This record gives sequence, structure tokens and C-alpha cells, in this order.
Amino acid sequence: GEDGSATGAADAVVLRRVSRFYADVAAVDDLSLTVRRGEFLSLLGPSGCGKTTTLRMIAGFEHPDTGDILVDGASVVGVPPHKRAVNTVFQAYALFPHMSVAENVAYGLEQSRVPKQQIRERVTEALEMVRMRGYAGRPPTQLSGGQQQRVALARALVNRPSVLLLDEPLGALDRQLREEMQVELKLLQSRLGISFVFVTHDQGEALSMSDRIAIMRAGRIEQLGDADTIYSTPASAYVAGFVGQQNFVDGESRGEGVVDTALGRMRTSREVEAGAGDRVRVAVRPEFVDLTGTEPTGPAENLVRGEVIGVAHQGETRQFLVDAGRGHTLLVRRPTPVAPRLGVGDTAWCRWEADHVHVFPHDGEHSAA
Ligand code: ATP
Repeated sequence: GEDGSATGAADAVVLRRVSRFYADVAAVDDLSLTVRRGEFLSLLGPSGCGKTTTLRMIAGFEHPDTGDILVDGASVVGVPPHKRAVNTVFQAYALFPHMSVAENVAYGLEQSRVPKQQIRERVTEALEMVRMRGYAGRPPTQLSGGQQQRVALARALVNRPSVLLLDEPLGALDRQLREEMQVELKLLQSRLGISFVFVTHDQGEALSMSDRIAIMRAGRIEQLGDADTIYSTPASAYVAGFVGQQNFVDGESRGEGVVDTALGRMRTSREVEAGAGDRVRVAVRPEFVDLTGTEPTGPAENLVRGEVIGVAHQGETRQFLVDAGRGHTLLVRRPTPVAPRLGVGDTAWCRWEADHVHVFPHDGEHSAA
């Protein structure tokens, strides 16, 4: 419950105002987070934002300087890693090369002196989970990268943790294998009903697998939500720029959803957390920009004239780069069937609807589009 007492329905992991300092730098800064039972939660953010430190504190390899960490409703501060109901899968999964697959998976159980018969059953079960039962007798050196990663997963699942922590586990795999493993991991997680906390700097990976995503920045969580929410209603310019692509232009708020920018007047029908006179950042995603070779009629808001400087065919979509002048380049993505027949050097008008315009308070950190 709210007081941290252990209950059957307790959340899988709770971090309460956790901080971790290295010298005087806060790697994790007053961070609070709840991982629900059975959920796939990703920690997403650029290098150095504190993802790994957060994960290592849940695992017990690092210790918070302040704050509390609960697993299954009980504080684990001071509890060593092997006594926590969590297990970790790393990118460098380091299987023992001189042991068979089954021996690798059994290793931890043998260390904790689980009876032989039980070990055999659990190893078989764990290898079945990751579809590797047929490889039990092989040495890991005779397995592909994806198969080795599945064995590492089995090794982490064999003692039935309530939470599995994964630190960029697919980082070493090539793209196709990584995409296959993403599907497999998600299936495995929903089948087992174990909570997964997945660390990645790859937004596509986080978007495709997670029930919820925590976007981290400088040791804090900037936004926590499902993929749709994060993508369609980013809480800040930072989140807007980190997940998906964006066209940004800075300007000054005039109030009532109107912003004056170097590229003309923009209007949003969304809520704006800025008053008249405030410096703001306007964001529009490439897929919401319409592109024509003839000047549209109507008001000149959310309308930018430019010159096409690049066209890339991408199968179902076509991507355009439009030089809008004043140092701004707009990225436009149109579905191929409706993409305009524009080429490099052509004059083009970019226009978008007011409900696709996001206006954020200026945080002074991003460069303009
Ligand atoms: P990456 O994706 O590169 O692994 P991350 O988001 O996981 O990054 P952390 O590894 O948690 O980030 O690091 C957060 C901050 O803490 C960084 O500034 C890092 O340099 C610092 N840091 C992490 N571990 C240590 C350590 N053992 N000693 C000193 N500083 C550290």
C-alpha cells in the first residue's frame, strides 16, 4: 500500500525519491517511479541520462544515496542482489563457453543448492520458454548471437524472478535479429506475466515493445506514458524531439495559441503553457506537413514557402527536405500515393493544421530545425 507495507497486489517495483551521486553529479536525481505488476516498462533516453544507474539500483549492484526502493511491496535497500526477486540480462551476456546450454542455465540454481531433480525440471521449462530446448546439450560457441541471447534470457528466468531487468540486451545483435527478438521478448513477457524493465536508447525499440515508456533526462523522468501518449502529446520539447522526428522553430508567444516565428505566424488549437511575450518552441511532425507546388489560398498561418533541396523515396512514403530560408530546413513525409511530384529546385509550400502544432516553453537546450 501507500505506506510501503507488503501486500499481495503490491506494485512490482517502486522507486521513491531516489538519488545517486558520483562525486557531485547526480546520475539519478530525486527519481520516483512505479513499475506495475506484469508490465513492460522501458527507460528511454540518451547516453548518460541515468538509465543504467537506475536499473543497477533496482538490481542491487548500486545503492541509492537517498530514497527508497521497493520490490513486491517491501524495501530492498541493503538486500544483496541475489536475495532480490529480480534478475538482470545484460548486453554482454557472457555465457560460460566450456559448459553446455543446460549447464549455463542451471548454474545459478546449483549455486543456491536447489535439489537436482528440481533443477532439471526448471532448466527444461526455462529453455522451453525461449524455444531452445533442442539445444540443451550444445556449447554456446555453436549458437548464433540471437540463440545465445535467448539462453541468457533462460538463465535469468530460471529462478522465476518477479521482475526481469534488461540493459540494452539486444544491442549486440544485427538489425533483423534485433527486430525478431523484440517481438519474441514482448510475447515472452506477456505470456509469463513477469514485469520487464527494459533500458534502451533506441526509441523504435521502446515504442514497439513497451506498455509504458519513461523518458529520462539528466537523472529524472521527463515523461511517463504509453507509446501513443508520448508520441502524440509529448510533455516537453525534449520529449517531442527525442521520440519520433520533429520540425522545430523558435518564436514568441502572442497568446491565444498564436506564435510569431522567423518562418511566419503559427497557430495551435492545443493548450499552450506560455503567456504573451514568452519565448517558445513550435514543433510539427514531418508526417503532418502537407506539401504543394502551388501557393494555397487562405490565411498565411502555419504556411511556409521554401525550396525543395532533397527528395528521398522510402517505399510507402516519400521524404522531402525543404529549405525555408533563415537557416531553417523542414522535413516533410508524405504517403507515396499522395506525394506531390516535386523535385530538387522546385518552389514548395508547406502547410499544416493547427491541431498538429505543439508549442512548448523554451528550455534553451535544442537547436532549431
Ligand atoms: P548509457 O546509455 O551510455 O549507458 P545511461 O543513461 O545508462 O547511459 P548511466 O550509465 O546511468 O547513464 O550514467 C549516468 C551518469 O552517471 C553519467 O553522467 C555517467 O557518466 C555517471 N556515472 C555512471 N556510473 C558512474 C561511476 N561508476 N562513476 C562515476 N560516474 C558514473
